Amino acid sequence: MTNHKYKLQELQQLDAAHYLHPFTDHKELRNAGSRMIVRGEGPFIYDSEGTEILDAMAGLWCVNIGYGRDELADVAAEQMREMPYYNSFFKCATPSPVQLSAKIAEIAPPNIEQVFFGSSGSESNDTALRLVRHYWALEGKPEKNIIISRQNAYHGSTVAGASLGGMSHMHKQLGGAVPNIVHVMAPYAYELAEPGESDEAFGLRAARTIEDAILAAGADKVAAFIGEPIMGAGGVKIPPASYWPEVQRICKKYDILLMLDEVITGYGRTGEWFAATTFGIEADTITTAKALTSGYQPLSALLVGERIAKTLVEKGGEFYHGYTYSGHPVCCAVGLKNIEIIEEEGLVDRVRNDTGPYLAEQLAKRIAVHPLVGETRSVGLMGGIEIVKDKADRSRFQPGGSAATKVRDHAIANGLMIRATDDTLIMSPPLIWTRETIDLAFDRLLVALDLAEAELASQR
Ligand code: PMP
Repeated sequence: MTNHKYKLQELQQLDAAHYLHPFTDHKELRNAGSRMIVRGEGPFIYDSEGTEILDAMAGLWCVNIGYGRDELADVAAEQMREMPYYNSFFKCATPSPVQLSAKIAEIAPPNIEQVFFGSSGSESNDTALRLVRHYWALEGKPEKNIIISRQNAYHGSTVAGASLGGMSHMHKQLGGAVPNIVHVMAPYAYELAEPGESDEAFGLRAARTIEDAILAAGADKVAAFIGEPIMGAGGVKIPPASYWPEVQRICKKYDILLMLDEVITGYGRTGEWFAATTFGIEADTITTAKALTSGYQPLSALLVGERIAKTLVEKGGEFYHGYTYSGHPVCCAVGLKNIEIIEEEGLVDRVRNDTGPYLAEQLAKRIAVHPLVGETRSVGLMGGIEIVKDKADRSRFQPGGSAATKVRDHAIANGLMIRATDDTLIMSPPLIWTRETIDLAFDRLLVALDLAEAELASQR
């Protein structure tokens, strides 16, 4: 049903005249016009024309408890009425960030002790970068300040986030990145493993590029390694099982801090509260955001392990860093309620024991067998689907990225919001999805795959 509150053409005109969208080619957008998303309910979003779309991306990897949750709206309204804002500068605090930091420490891996709040994942990575450099300075080793990251990593859009990230097109527009950040190979076996190389061997080889970078710079110059447990925006690249244990070993051997970016994987997505647990990683910092509030308020939390926490408290000295909205009381109250809901509804266990395994099984059974699909992979409720021209030699349709985009466009037209990065389709649905929702999503995806295949037939 068309939503009469919103007039699409009028909004599109205003949009084109005034609204600069993130990560957008504005010439292209103005030709196409925006779809206005006006409402959400459970796993569905609705546009102004009444079209129902099943959201396999949970917004942007964030709406983990689904849309239309009054509990979060109520908590936000209550906090706004009682105390909308006060800061945590000047030896003050408000209760909700204090309570949320304790709650996060309770659900986080055992070595996590402290939490620094911001408003976004990018900000939180900025905090992380400065904190690890501050840590080494406090330890009397300020020259240990190189950070090793990976090609194709995504760590955000601020200058520090984009510098830490490994997206070359973003680096080009930076006009000068934050110094002393180097990028090594991504653990992306599907494209980067040598013919005949086992996943296990490839995982070790990818991890050892970090050791090579440490040796090239000198371990006394390297502060930390940063990585997403599963690369998300780069295409849901799940590393082989051999990768993370080897990364951890290398970091320990050379006394390099390990920074995890769990902006996507944090708060249940992989079937554990944090992917650090899924992969058995002990991290010195864990960046989180997005699902901390299920996207209902902008909030990020940098989780700080005992090693850094101890030095900060024992050595003292001001950390010259913070945001007006560090520990925003409304956002933190919403975050606290969101975590309570995830606990009460047993969503993390459901992903681990039920929907996660079911998603993997259905990807293999229904999607991987399609002629356009080269590989499916998933951990918990986070999945990737490789679109290929030829399953055997893994070759792609040309131009690169066009085939997955075609599938994506058909999927959206058929009521399924899914994303394409290069030729990988990616999904990261709300944790409230059930087996039935997964079935519905794949019914719609299969229609899209068939339509795209028919259009691509002439290129085979
Ligand atoms: N890190 C990762 C792994 C992300 O996926 C993102 C956002 N997609 C960010 C950082 C940046 O978060 P934000 O957009 O909230 O700044």
